[in-house]
Amino acid sequence: MKTHKLYLEDSYQKMCEAIVLEVKKDQEGRQIIILDQTLFYAMSGGQPGDKGIMTGSSGEEQVVDTRYASGEKVLIHHFMSEDTQFKIGDTVTCQINWDYRYKNMRLHSLLHLAGMAFEKMVGPQKCIGSNISDRGRMDYEFFEKIDLDILAREVQGLIDGDHEIRTYGEDGNEVRRVWEMKPLGTMPCGGTHPKSSGEIREFKLKRKGLSSQGQRIYCELIDS
Ligand SMILES: [Zn+2]
Repeated sequence: MKTHKLYLEDSYQKMCEAIVLEVKKDQEGRQIIILDQTLFYAMSGGQPGDKGIMTGSSGEEQVVDTRYASGEKVLIHHFMSEDTQFKIGDTVTCQINWDYRYKNMRLHSLLHLAGMAFEKMVGPQKCIGSNISDRGRMDYEFFEKIDLDILAREVQGLIDGDHEIRTYGEDGNEVRRVWEMKPLGTMPCGGTHPKSSGEIREFKLKRKGLSSQGQRIYCELIDS
């Protein structure tokens, strides 16, 4: 059994049909649905799992989170808000919460731009953690205070350049994915991303003071 990941082929697709392969509950009693294919991005690489709705002949149900079933990233668990009426073999229509996903796509690429621009400024660094929620954050084992205005100008230049962003599987591999933007280069990433850096639009960088672990930089989108 396997879930085909439609979001790897087109990160802008918002709706698809799918067949229910399995209906079960996890140890905490949360309702899980497994589909033959999905548009719901499964939490990975700091990017949150998608939310949205699934509709079938028995009605409409809410998907509240999406996660991989295991580290092999083969099967995807859709977590439902309540007990499901869907049965194995049912055809359902999936619709992702596009506002949520698109923000996560833009924020994810913003983190890559800021991280790569940061390393361009100070040389290769070890990123010890990164995460995306309302805003993005990156933690570096770097102990000098960098000038955030200079970093922000660098990132702004990359956004204004409206550079093409590509994602693809390394040697056609579905799990080992690559993010690429020409002026910066490539980095391993299995997330969903906009087609061009211009879509990130306006942003803000903030720093949490230096700590014994290094420094934490926050990246926020400014949406009017
Ligand atoms: Zn990434």
